[in-house]
Formats: sequence, structure tokens, C-alpha cells
Amino acid sequence: MAAIHTIAVIGAGVMGRGIAHAAALAGYRTILEDILPTALRKAGDEIRGTLDQGVEAGKLSPEQANAAFARLEYANSVEEAARQADFVIEAVPEEMESKIEIFTMLDKICRPDTFLGSNTSSLSVTEIASVTYRAHRIAGVHFFNPVHKMKLLEVVRGLETDDQTIAAAVEIGTRMGKEVVVIKESPGFITSRINALIGNEAFYMLQEGIASASDIDKAIKLGLQHPIGPFEMVDLVGLDTRLHILEYLHKNLGEKYRPCPLMVQYVKAGRLGRKSGRGVYEYPQPDAAQTGSPTGAVVAHVGVETGSPTGAAVAHVGAETGSPTGAAVAHVGAEKPAGGNKT
Ligand code: NAD
Repeated sequence: MAAIHTIAVIGAGVMGRGIAHAAALAGYRTILEDILPTALRKAGDEIRGTLDQGVEAGKLSPEQANAAFARLEYANSVEEAARQADFVIEAVPEEMESKIEIFTMLDKICRPDTFLGSNTSSLSVTEIASVTYRAHRIAGVHFFNPVHKMKLLEVVRGLETDDQTIAAAVEIGTRMGKEVVVIKESPGFITSRINALIGNEAFYMLQEGIASASDIDKAIKLGLQHPIGPFEMVDLVGLDTRLHILEYLHKNLGEKYRPCPLMVQYVKAGRLGRKSGRGVYEYPQPDAAQTGSPTGAVVAHVGVETGSPTGAAVAHVGAETGSPTGAAVAHVGAEKPAGGNKT
């Protein structure tokens, strides 16, 4: 197998920027592309901020952080990003049409021996690959959020994926410091299938008024030893992304995955989670000049005052935590504002 030197990442949203960060830190020349120039700028700022946090926390030397940042390049088109890549990772929204559009393009642009991976959380890699002449060179590479902290990579084998492609996906994941599980394609793989069900059930509980969002999160964390509550999790993932996953699982696996109407309503209202400043909980829009982040994702220990229509509790949200996952949310406090749970 030819050596992998250059990784292109298509889509610089929550996941694309995280994957680019991890790839650059692993020593790969990394080219990041997004249809929106603003997304690329924000990605650059956020990656710089997260690397700097790594230096402050003593996890990286300043030289390592600077070298990783210097390995990052930004492209103005899919063609510019992908034509020199040895491995392309697509991280555009979780819609089959978007994936197919990108893979059709990549198949024309990339060298025949270039490996293509999709960061899809649930969709069929076989279906995505079917629009190309290189289905054997395509695998699912399901990274987790936040990528630089989460240890797992699910590598998904589609019907035609060959062993060389699986080996290439395992190699890049391992070099990025991930533990890799290789699985056979199935809707939602291992993790999204379970996680979507838990998150959906939590929304039904909220809709039924059983408890406040913060108490549901608290119960799941303290009673079931989950390091992060289902609402903290969905705010991190993005409610729109979760809804796309549930719709796909509902279509393919049946009734138990029907998206909860309250979640659908939140998405319609634009309450997409941390990335939009408000999901189940609220996140102050940070001053970009101060934090370098458009989403608040790199803001450490931000107190969120609520009294919001969600009735959400006062949240203390931090990017750097001692949580066993290392996931971004430190804890959501138990203190309820007057009025408590309204949803
Ligand atoms: P996102 O909405 O944060 O980012 C998507 C990015 O793709 C946006 O910046 C958008 O401008 C860009 N984009 C859209 N169309 C494009 C095109 N044609 N060309 C180039 N860029 C384009 O979404 P996300 O959360 O980063 O999710 C991306 C993928 O990763 C999805 O398949 C999702 O299911 C998967 N995923 C998400 C998470 C999570 O926690 N958010 C975790 C694992 C996997």
C-alpha cells in the first residue's frame, strides 16, 4: 500500500475541523475545504485555540502545536483540496444527497489509488460508494466529537470495500491516536444506533414533563455512570445532525427510532445545540475576538444563566474537563431556576 502523506477533509464544520486538527497533529499534511469561506476561517481560529489550550494544559509543546498548525492548509474548492490527497475524508451534513454530490466529484478529481472515507454517523457507505467507479476504495471513518479527545474510530466496511482500504483507514486512525473498531455496514453502526435511541427517549421524557432536562442528564450520569447526559450530548452533536440520523434509522430500522416531535420542533426553531448558541441548553455566543471560536466550543468554564423556555438548569460548560470521556461538557448543575421545567 502506498504511504499516506496528505489528508484532505471536505466540510469544516464541527467534525471536519476536528478531524483536520487530529490529522495535522498526527503529522499529516492536511488540506481543509468548505463551501463557506467563513466556516474555514472559523475552523482555523478554533483549531489554533484548541492547540493553544493543549499547550497551556501541558499536553503539547509549543513546537508541536505550531508544527501541527503549519501542516494545515485551506482550499477554495473540493478539486483543489482533493487532487493531491492520498486519503480524503468527507464531513459534510448527514444527508445522502450531499454525500453523493461530494463522492461523485471526488471520484472524478482524485487519483485512482486515493482512498475515500465518509465521516457519516449512520448512512450506508455502500450506497455512497455506488455512485463512484471505486467502491472498493471507500470506507466509513466515523470519528467522534470532540475529535482531538475522543478515543474511538469506527471503521465501516461497505459491501465492496477491500482490505487495503480498511487497512488504510485503520492506519490513519491509529496514527491519530484512536482505538479502532472495524464493523460491517449497518444503519447507525454501533454507536449512533444506541446513542440515537437513548437521546430520543430522553426527549420523549422531556416532552412528557417527567423531569427537567438537567435532572434527566443528572440521573443518567449519576445513576447509570454515563460521563455525559443525553441532552449535553445532543447539544454537542447538533440537534439537526441527530434528527437526520434518527430519520434514517426510522426509515431503515423501524418504528422505535421515530424522532420525538419535541426534537423536531427544536430543530425547526433553529435550536441546533452549541453550534447555534442554543439547543436544549443555552450557550452564550462568545466574542470571537476573545475566544477564536464561533460556537463557544473552545470556551472554558462558561456559566450559562437560563430561565429559558426549556427551563434548563444553570449550566457550567467547559471544554477542558476531567470527565472520563474527556468530552466537552463539565457538568450541568442541579440548581434549577425558578419556574423549573417548562418543557
Ligand atoms: P456541520 O453542520 O457542523 O458541518 C458541515 C459542514 O459542511 C459545514 O461547514 C458546511 O458549510 C459544509 N458543507 C456543506 N455542503 C458542503 C459542500 N458541498 N462542500 C463542502 N462543504 C460543505 O456538521 P458536522 O456535525 O460536522 O457533521 C458532519 C458529518 O459528520 C455528518 O455526516 C455527521 O453525521 C458526522 N458526525 C457528526 C458528529 C457530531 O457530533 N456532530 C459526530 C460524528 C459524525
